[in-house]
Amino acid sequence: MNAEIIAVGTELLLGDILNTNAQYLARQLAGLGFTVWHQSVVGDNPQRLAQLAQQARQRSQLVIYSGGLGPTADDLTKETIAAAYGDTLRFDEEQYKRIADYFTASGRSVPANNRKQAMVPVHGRTLQNDNGTAPGVVFEQDSRMAILLPGPPKELVPMFEKQVRPLLETLQDGVLYSRILRVYGIGESRLEELVGHLLEGSNPTAALYAKTAEVTVRVTAKGDTLEQAKTLCGQLADEFYRLLGDAVYDEGEEGMEKTVVQLYSRKGMQLATAESCTGGLVSQRITSVPGSSDMFQCGVCSYANQVKARLLAVRQPTLDRFGAVSLQVAGQMALGVRALARADVGVGITGIAGPGGGSEEKPVGLVYIGAASKEGVWVYKMLLPGRSRDTVRWAASQKALDMARRLAAGLPLADCVHCSDAQLDREV
Ligand code: AMP
Ligand code: MG
Repeated sequence: MNAEIIAVGTELLLGDILNTNAQYLARQLAGLGFTVWHQSVVGDNPQRLAQLAQQARQRSQLVIYSGGLGPTADDLTKETIAAAYGDTLRFDEEQYKRIADYFTASGRSVPANNRKQAMVPVHGRTLQNDNGTAPGVVFEQDSRMAILLPGPPKELVPMFEKQVRPLLETLQDGVLYSRILRVYGIGESRLEELVGHLLEGSNPTAALYAKTAEVTVRVTAKGDTLEQAKTLCGQLADEFYRLLGDAVYDEGEEGMEKTVVQLYSRKGMQLATAESCTGGLVSQRITSVPGSSDMFQCGVCSYANQVKARLLAVRQPTLDRFGAVSLQVAGQMALGVRALARADVGVGITGIAGPGGGSEEKPVGLVYIGAASKEGVWVYKMLLPGRSRDTVRWAASQKALDMARRLAAGLPLADCVHCSDAQLDREV
């Protein structure tokens, strides 16, 4: 079945906000087995919207709209699309009560223009909005369907998950099942070499998506039953695991921080971080995961050398001899914060995120990442020349999390230098 996505909003055309809804919807539709042939953005203009709606209705069996369901005069998606699908709107007392409750629950009175949001289709369906006031709408005529969703992603996403996904699943024959494998430590081109032959099937299918410092693999299978789809999907996923081993760090939509928090919590282990060039990014990522207080002891953001020395017991002669951005200092930071927090594992990061501050010997993009346990410290030298500050910082945080994961899981840290504390005063 073919589908189309239309985002409505002049603010999108002006570049004031990024069209993240289109990306989200496209991904979901692909995962559900829909073929998306068109995506467009149109301003808050009834003529142009009506024109696009007619065109979309002709060429696409399913059209998903986002935005323009608000209470203000420029929000006119509902009225315009209703007309395109031969429907009209009526005021709904029950819907109005829901909207009124939404306001009174937070001690506010209901603005007059919110009556507009209580208009529901005469023939179509209404989708409840649990996170805002604008209900979603489904119009249907002659096997053509339009689904209208509110613009704010925090309203659109849950509405899609709870109400639209089940509806779309009924439109497809067969059941689709997907798994997302998250891979770290193997570059995209190397990955293609390793698993390229697994990307050619038609059922199950697999696709690679490169992100900053990781690649995800989406494996999807279609079956007559969910069980059958899961089995097919599982067979291909197993092949990926066989070839990629522990580079597959987890499954699902969430990042490495969640994996690390869950792993440490499960094992009853504690983590502490000392960060220089990442300025607390690792601790920010960890503490963004609910439940991290069980496993996270502290994050020291130690920019100045004297703080590295005083708080983390980094030795002054080491700083003088090797400089703050060095394998030795990263190792001592990891050991130092581990001791400071009495944690099982300590992580230390020091580097040059750029764009300034680099030299021939120590270029921008050079970062040392240490991870210490009771068995000593492992240090990784990362070199990402020519990357932006954000990329360098993110990649460093990702590596630090992976090293923390490997130490807790008892996995090898093959690309790191392993030393004792005493060795960190010398050339290694
Ligand atoms: P609207 O429903 O058109 O009134 O949009 C309300 C708000 O939702 C906008 O101000 C944006 O912050 C957000 N929004 C609307 N459309 C999109 C979109 N396509 N992608 C991401 N955010 C959006
Ligand atoms: Mg709008």
